[in-house]
Amino acid sequence: MAGSAPAITLRFWGVRGSTPCPGPRYLRYGGNTSCVELRCGSSLLVLDAGTGIRELGLRLGSSPLDCDLLLTHTHLDHIGGLPFFGPMYVPANRFVLWSGHLAPQRTLVKVLQEFMADPVFPVPPSVFPSTVEYRDIQAGASFEPRPGITVRTAPLNHPNRATGYRIEHQGRSVCYITDTEHPETGRDPAVVDLVRGADMMIYDASYTDEEYPRYRGWGHSTWQEGVRIAEEAGVGRLVIFHHDPNHDDDAMDAIAEQADRARRGTIVAREGMTLDL
Ligand SMILES: [Zn+2]
Ligand SMILES: [Zn+2]
Repeated sequence: MAGSAPAITLRFWGVRGSTPCPGPRYLRYGGNTSCVELRCGSSLLVLDAGTGIRELGLRLGSSPLDCDLLLTHTHLDHIGGLPFFGPMYVPANRFVLWSGHLAPQRTLVKVLQEFMADPVFPVPPSVFPSTVEYRDIQAGASFEPRPGITVRTAPLNHPNRATGYRIEHQGRSVCYITDTEHPETGRDPAVVDLVRGADMMIYDASYTDEEYPRYRGWGHSTWQEGVRIAEEAGVGRLVIFHHDPNHDDDAMDAIAEQADRARRGTIVAREGMTLDL
């Protein structure tokens, strides 16, 4: 009998870009940096390891885990939560860490060894007693992390590089496009190709179109560009993500209203929000 369980369930644990922003002005949308949990049947995939991943770890507790962690890139707001992800310290757990953005002489394990190192951090990644496998991929590659789950990737336009992901399971698809800056004119063809026809696109909407000229070259995009890509590529649902810490709850409410008017059904990601596909 066909079950009614969703093909993909998402839960947002961190929706901010750049740096965490705790405090009373950020209670409704949340202040943790990028981390999204994906459930595809019994498989767990985690997108990025920003500070939001700590709360995910608390939720997962000590239940046994065999999980894929897909990193867009290794800027601090996307890996800074990893040493505080409790399940990494459970010996029976296994993690596969995927990263696609790195220059040839760099590997993910080397970057983590440099980040978790004296005098920036007290212990190296070898402190994790769990099994950790590091997989460096070329942005543009496709792979099947678990049977029945397909992942396609594309290079994004970001300082030090980043990788966009498209995850497919049981005929449904979600794209995770952060961090990226759009071209001066027209859409980024690599992004449009990757997200074409997807059910959902989570998109780097750090800025508004009005703010963007001040931040040209910083490697981020706007919610309006997200709308334009979603329209051009026939994306089902747009999810605005990687909110600028300067956008407090009131600013995000205003963006949510404008974005829904621009494209009906557009969602602004909030910490704790779940979505089913
Ligand atoms: Zn970022
Ligand atoms: Zn970045």
